[in-house]
Amino acid sequence: MASPSSPTSPSPLRRQRSSSAGSDASSSAGSSTSDLITYATPAEPMVGPEKRTTRQKVDRRPPSTFYLKPFSKMKMAEKVCNLATCPTEMHELKDEELDRGPIPTQSVLRENIFILSRGLVPLAIQAASYYVFPNVKWPLAVAYPFYVLAFMGFALQVMSRLNYYCVALGVFDEKNIGRDRTPDKSVNGLAKGITAYMFVRTGFTFYLHYNKGITPLTDFSWTFPLRLAAWEITMDYFFYVYHRSCHEIDALWFIHQHHHTTKHPTAILAILAEDYQEYLEIFFIPLAATLLVPMSFSEMYLTLCYTIYVEMLGHSGVRSYWAHPVLWGLKALDMDLAVEDHDIHHRFGKSGKNYGKQTRVWDKLFSTVGERIETYGM
Ligand SMILES: [Zn+2]
Repeated sequence: MASPSSPTSPSPLRRQRSSSAGSDASSSAGSSTSDLITYATPAEPMVGPEKRTTRQKVDRRPPSTFYLKPFSKMKMAEKVCNLATCPTEMHELKDEELDRGPIPTQSVLRENIFILSRGLVPLAIQAASYYVFPNVKWPLAVAYPFYVLAFMGFALQVMSRLNYYCVALGVFDEKNIGRDRTPDKSVNGLAKGITAYMFVRTGFTFYLHYNKGITPLTDFSWTFPLRLAAWEITMDYFFYVYHRSCHEIDALWFIHQHHHTTKHPTAILAILAEDYQEYLEIFFIPLAATLLVPMSFSEMYLTLCYTIYVEMLGHSGVRSYWAHPVLWGLKALDMDLAVEDHDIHHRFGKSGKNYGKQTRVWDKLFSTVGERIETYGM
């Protein structure tokens, strides 16, 4: 992650140095961080091609400066959002001459190993505790905060990994514009959304499924992969209906409009939304799927891990064909979701197609599939 003092300082920092070059005699040799923040505020023409973030003359996206503050001076909401600050390279415009070749395909097996090796850790810790101390069962007051923290840790690992690949492999549409930063004006709402996501999704999982007498990892069934696939497709149906309704019924657009203020999102901006959308996406829609597809506690926790993984992947913009770790077989029916599908959905705003967020099953059945641009021949 970029920091104000890292060698990969964000473009506003370098822009300040360039724009003040003519008056260096009056400036101090060691610029303070507050100077950097002052110069990072918005939109003036970029100086020098290496510092540009968009092909357009002026980057008119809302300003983002909070991440330039020292961590100790950030408000709590800024600290939460700063956990998801992306490397500077993701926000920079790429040279038109850059040739990265055909977009690469990621290994489904490797991704499943990544998810399982992280997602199973809290379950294994609780199981180990039950094995060592068989008479000490974890009450809700212990288990719930433990799993909320574990879920946060999982999400941060996913984000860190996606950011790494966004730099290594590039991002979609990078020759026209870099990825969006989290706008200053959205920091409070995004921090609230991140917090709600972590507590609420694990919360209804505990309410519906937690039994302190059951040892985690012993409540998986061989049918779990099938039920996980069914859960994802079922949730995607409810999501599709709500999502398409918001786009096509003008009176409902206010629910979803804020999420579309980002046209080139990053993984963390998957959670950028107004309150109404948060209620639906964080609680009601996954709850509906959970009530229809039976799961044990361990299965449901792992389901949450798979779901957030795909949601963040779909917003990351990573230039890759990166199949759904469970529903990759839908490719045979041309119903698989590629990273570019949801990326294009954001790019075209209210008029966009590709309403599914886990699959293209419902887009295909209801004829709302959009054309892919860079993911060709896959
Ligand atoms: Zn949308």
